[in-house]
Amino acid sequence: MKLKSDSGGGEQLISRVTKPTHIKIGSVDYPIRWEAEVSDDHGRSLYGQLRHSPEDEVVMSSATSLVRQRESLLHEIIHSIDNRLDLALKEKVVGQLSVGLFETMLDNMKLMKWILGL
Ligand SMILES: [Zn+2]
Repeated sequence: MKLKSDSGGGEQLISRVTKPTHIKIGSVDYPIRWEAEVSDDHGRSLYGQLRHSPEDEVVMSSATSLVRQRESLLHEIIHSIDNRLDLALKEKVVGQLSVGLFETMLDNMKLMKWILGL
């Protein structure tokens, strides 16, 4: 996910818990590594990146707002699902889906709990 300006807002709605250290998506258990700075092969700053080499992992930037970190992790999860299901989603679609899903999840926490059976 490319670095953009933070839109702010909504952070007060999210409880602060320990950052996740792994996520299972399909058959892959991805470690999540939190770094002060994440960049692509061209040196461009990123909020996060799904990597497959040398091993499967999600590398996330901790140098942005908590809301941005969470939305960015959802973005990388969508990339992983895209890879797993061979959907060939364009970056723009991944970005739109992650923002739309994140906003919907934030605005409907009770519904999310119901969907997840919590
Ligand atoms: Zn992306």
